[in-house]
Amino acid sequence: MKLGMVGLPNVGKSTLWGALTDAGTDCAANFPFCTIEPNRGVVSVPDPRLAVLRDAYEPLKFTPAVLEFMDIAGLVRGAGKGEGLGNKFLADIRESDAIVHVVRCFEDGNIIHVDGDVNPLRDIETINLELIFSDLEILERRLDKAKKASKSGVNAAVKKEAELVEALIAHLEEGKTARSFDALSFGGKDCAEAVKSMPLLSGKPTIYAANLSDSDFEKGEPTGVHYNAVAEFAKAEGSSIFPISAQTEAELAGLSEQEKAEFLTELGIKESGLSKIIREGYKLLGLISYFTAGKQEVRAWTIENGTKAPQAAGKIHTDFEKGFIRAEVTAYADLLDESGAYRGQAYAKEKGLVRLEGKDYVMKDGDVVLFRFNV
Ligand code: GDP
Repeated sequence: MKLGMVGLPNVGKSTLWGALTDAGTDCAANFPFCTIEPNRGVVSVPDPRLAVLRDAYEPLKFTPAVLEFMDIAGLVRGAGKGEGLGNKFLADIRESDAIVHVVRCFEDGNIIHVDGDVNPLRDIETINLELIFSDLEILERRLDKAKKASKSGVNAAVKKEAELVEALIAHLEEGKTARSFDALSFGGKDCAEAVKSMPLLSGKPTIYAANLSDSDFEKGEPTGVHYNAVAEFAKAEGSSIFPISAQTEAELAGLSEQEKAEFLTELGIKESGLSKIIREGYKLLGLISYFTAGKQEVRAWTIENGTKAPQAAGKIHTDFEKGFIRAEVTAYADLLDESGAYRGQAYAKEKGLVRLEGKDYVMKDGDVVLFRFNV
């Protein structure tokens, strides 16, 4: 699963990416095309529950869940028509399962803005339009095909598809993203499924990461006209928004755990924005984690929400899925007492909270699991 990071040049993508991947910020320079080649990074998903299990088991190996991030740099006007490096950028976005759209909200006269001044809504529109142009090309081709097919015989399904595509085209031509098209109202569940299955860039789930100055945070809460404008836009589109200070995150990334904690306390923030954005991305992709815990290894396994126990077991090994008998499951929360202190498996067993689940069990986020299987 991959998150692609997009945004205009000089909005703070490289800074954020460097902080994200702990790769440092060497590439962040006051230069619009610093990151021509997409950078890829794998980042672990911070999960305080997993850290508690690690401390309890003191395992030989500790393996958190991971996400792949891609820094897709230099998306500019004209990219949607394949101008310049446009095609490459679009291919990278196509490869992403969801998008983190970085929007500049920080004011800084020393950092050039490609369009002269800071205006997050105009920037969002610039990027979204490029994605929309690319989608329109795909939809026009699809419409041509559907029209030709319907000429050679009356086929209700083809006619319906042509109507849906026409409505989508009209929606995109208003400058709106495919994400915000209400397919359910247009033609019910089938239409919603059909739109979902179309390879549309502006239909990808998106988080708008509003890059703020640290002075835009008051007691840890984001403020300012720019932030509010992005928040309103994201809400109307049904997307999420995430406030972040890329520069602060980059500074944090270079610190030790203890220094980090001190710095965050000073800023009045509990957790780095980076941790939260990674988790938000994980959620956006419809992913959850289950845990396996023992002396050998404490590990988080990534599954899609709705996965059943045998398929979840198959993540560990295909033999686990093939020979699945049952799963011994304890919800993470059931390993804690009322005060929130970790008490462990014996405690949960005593309370009758260790469940035996069969092949139809739908896994939940935070399940601590032991699979039983035949070889
Ligand atoms: P990119 O082109 O979107 O990848 O942008 P960069 O990450 O290279 O950032 C461009 C410039 O803006 C660099 O000089 C960064 O140090 C600076 N920058 C990034 N984020 C912030 C921020 O939150 N505040 C300020 N003042 N400058 C920032």
